[in-house]
Amino acid sequence: MFMLGLILSNQDKYPLDLVVNFDLEIEWQVAKNVINEMERRCKEAGIPFVRIKPRKSWEDLYEKYGFPNAHARWCNSDYKLDCKKQLNEWIASQNCRPVAYIGLCADEKKRFKYEIGDWENQDVCYPLAEEGIEESTILYWARKQSIFEGYYDNLDRMGCKRCPFLTMKEMAYLKQSEPEEYEALFKYIKDTENMVASKGKKWLFKDKGSEVIRNRVDTKWTLILENEQNYKQLTIFDL
Ligand code: SF4
Repeated sequence: MFMLGLILSNQDKYPLDLVVNFDLEIEWQVAKNVINEMERRCKEAGIPFVRIKPRKSWEDLYEKYGFPNAHARWCNSDYKLDCKKQLNEWIASQNCRPVAYIGLCADEKKRFKYEIGDWENQDVCYPLAEEGIEESTILYWARKQSIFEGYYDNLDRMGCKRCPFLTMKEMAYLKQSEPEEYEALFKYIKDTENMVASKGKKWLFKDKGSEVIRNRVDTKWTLILENEQNYKQLTIFDL
């Protein structure tokens, strides 16, 4: 969102023809709100905003494979990247050489594919890095934007909300912000553990099992999160 703002206000330097969003059902609600806002800003600027959905829903793939895990990351390969496949097919049918803007920051140098300042003949451009903006600046900015609803006060990265790699704190935040999704998450995981067991095999969520993990979130991590939130609201005069 920061990068989109930067690009829209520097159209001479960073021209923009189209914004593509990979539209996933498993985005956090806050991410969906941000994407809607990005679409609104693009429309306002007269830039087409296209949403691409995976051709198979998360539920359909879940029915087939069970909850994703480190060895079966179908959520990425068969789900998210199916949007990329559709985008590549569309690009191949166009007579153009696309340049993609990527939100890498100036301090993510190890991930750069080209030297900053030399993006004219590249197929990617990192506007944030080109402007010398570092990750901490974006995080500081994100914490002040009401549209993120305090997400970045509590957490510093955002993946999907049905992710096999959710941290304990992210699960506690999901329980607090989207309680129905939290219930659904553990149902999907528990059903997969049972399904694997019915085949005479064993798979336990985070090697401990859904019941142990859920219990830790409910009893320990929910409190840690709430304490952090309460202490952040205190001022020096309250202490
Ligand atoms: S963030 Fe998690 S759920 Fe989303 S695609 Fe990556 S591994 Fe899968």
